[in-house]
Amino acid sequence: MTEICPKCGLPKDLCICETIAKEEEKIRVSSVKKRYGKAVTIIEGISKDVDNKNVLKELKKKLACGGTLKNNVIELQGDHRKKIKTVLVKLGFPEDKIEVS
Ligand SMILES: [Zn+2]
Repeated sequence: MTEICPKCGLPKDLCICETIAKEEEKIRVSSVKKRYGKAVTIIEGISKDVDNKNVLKELKKKLACGGTLKNNVIELQGDHRKKIKTVLVKLGFPEDKIEVS
């Protein structure tokens, strides 16, 4: 049986919620220094409708770093602000919705 998305009513494989969510959200990227001067990159604002676990997986792979996902906030080890936009755009997030500070 095909699973139906409760939000848009389309079968899961045709569901457009994630695409819409990616286009609507404003993503904020910042970098903070943690204990012992280690930098981490924080990515906030990714919608709950987006498969955040997959986003984290792809980011870790493409940036070759460790990372965690907590309350829809992605935390990556290291300062990746220079490259993160390119990677997020490749994952389907619109460039003008990504704010890197
Ligand atoms: Zn849907």
